[in-house]
Amino acid sequence: MENTLHIIGGGMAGSEAAWQAAQAGVQIVIHEMRPTVETFAHQTGNLAEMVCSNSFRSDDDEQNAVGLLHWEMRQANGLLMEMADAHQLPAGGALAVDRDAFSNAVTERLRAHPNVRVEEGEITDLPTDGHWIIATGPLTSGALAQSIRAETGADSLAFFDAIAPIVYTDSIDMSQAWFQSRYDKGDTEEERKAYLNCPMTRDQYDAFIDALLAADKTEFHEGETAGYFDGCLPIEVMAERGRETLRHGPMKPVGLTNPHQPDVKPWAVVQLRRDNALGTLFNIVGFQTKMKYGAQTEVFRTIPGLENASFARLGGIHRNTFINSPTLLDDQMRLKSRPNIRFAGQITGVEGYVESAAMGLLAARLAIAELTGKTLPPVPATTATGALVTHITGGAEAKTFQPMNVNFGLFPPVEGLKGGRRGRKDRYKAYTDRAKADWTAWLAG
Ligand SMILES: Cc1cc2nc3c(=O)[nH]c(=O)nc-3n(C[C@H](O)[C@H](O)[C@H](O)COP(=O)(O)OP(=O)(O)OC[C@H]3O[C@@H](n4cnc5c(N)ncnc54)[C@H](O)[C@@H]3O)c2cc1C
Repeated sequence: MENTLHIIGGGMAGSEAAWQAAQAGVQIVIHEMRPTVETFAHQTGNLAEMVCSNSFRSDDDEQNAVGLLHWEMRQANGLLMEMADAHQLPAGGALAVDRDAFSNAVTERLRAHPNVRVEEGEITDLPTDGHWIIATGPLTSGALAQSIRAETGADSLAFFDAIAPIVYTDSIDMSQAWFQSRYDKGDTEEERKAYLNCPMTRDQYDAFIDALLAADKTEFHEGETAGYFDGCLPIEVMAERGRETLRHGPMKPVGLTNPHQPDVKPWAVVQLRRDNALGTLFNIVGFQTKMKYGAQTEVFRTIPGLENASFARLGGIHRNTFINSPTLLDDQMRLKSRPNIRFAGQITGVEGYVESAAMGLLAARLAIAELTGKTLPPVPATTATGALVTHITGGAEAKTFQPMNVNFGLFPPVEGLKGGRRGRKDRYKAYTDRAKADWTAWLAG
């Protein structure tokens, strides 16, 4: 009994974690509340249900970070990748699957495994002893969320994400943008230059507001509520409240001097803030949005300096329960205040089916090592799995932490390669070659 691993939540992360640990000989109990307790998004009582799209996104393991994550999970004999491959649908370069066949197959494989027991029912309190992985996802039940909140503090658990778009630093045109904090605030040179600023003339601002108002927006999912809006209004809603609202809010031009044109006062300024310790990613401050992805790229590329911006991720606002992993978790994915509990999946602040499953895979491997008296070395940050876990457990800015997809901006740069769009193909190939070698070595070790 001592060595039983309990997993709360049989979604993407919990299912993969259960498989990895069961295959290693560990006794597993999956505690899944569905179908007894439902969420607004899940439709079945199956494990690993895909709640919305039926795509695991790009399967290109040479040029795409999520494709690389597929590759890494396949190398680690991941159940979800095996089942996704078995139930693949034609979708060009993407890995789309027959969602019912996929989740039925995952459920059958896990239920048939001699080391796995599925216990139906909601867990409402943080467990006090034993070995646990919490993988309850973006729709973690209210009672458990409150219990997590009581342990971690109110500011450490969010119920919604409010994601501003994130841009690759090397795609920003520095002949137009400049580094400066408002009023040059800060004790160090780094703090005084913490923001990147993109200036707008009056005409550019007017055109930007028109584009925002006209853009296609997504609706909230049924069961979601817009009641959380205070403090994180989508920019298009701010624009609807008045054409000047943004210019007096996140786009105010005060306390900034454009070194490229010191005599011209910008009418508005878009600010970007560093998003990771590596400095490879910047988020657009206050630009959470419900605009559709195509509209976002179009509208944001009208911002001077961002005409050629590459987006590591686009903005969004969703119902999403997630913890402040950079402050709460150690590099073994354990809750620092209760090391018998690991977190995995979307609740750790990764975003997406694949990323969640990958964090389940990793949490299980770390737990297996601990149960068998070993400590695994940290996963190299040069791998897709390692880049993600390094980001959520330390690389990300804790104060502004928001869920993250895997992307090459999370990877330590490969030295000596050309930056920008032109060098992209070679750069991505170098990242994925390095990742494959390092992941293979880590799995073997
Ligand atoms: C409406 C919506 C749409 C989405 N669309 C997409 C998309 O199109 N593509 C994409 O990649 N990602 C999408 N996501 C994100 C998606 O949910 C995650 O990528 C993925 O499912 C997260 O995996 P997970 O294992 O962390 O959580 P889940 O897959 O949600 O699994 C968590 C499990 O925990 C169970 N659970 C919760 N609380 C308890 C409890 N207290 N006790 C016991 N069991 C519990 C739940 O029933 C669930 O089965 C969407 C999310 C939402 C909410």
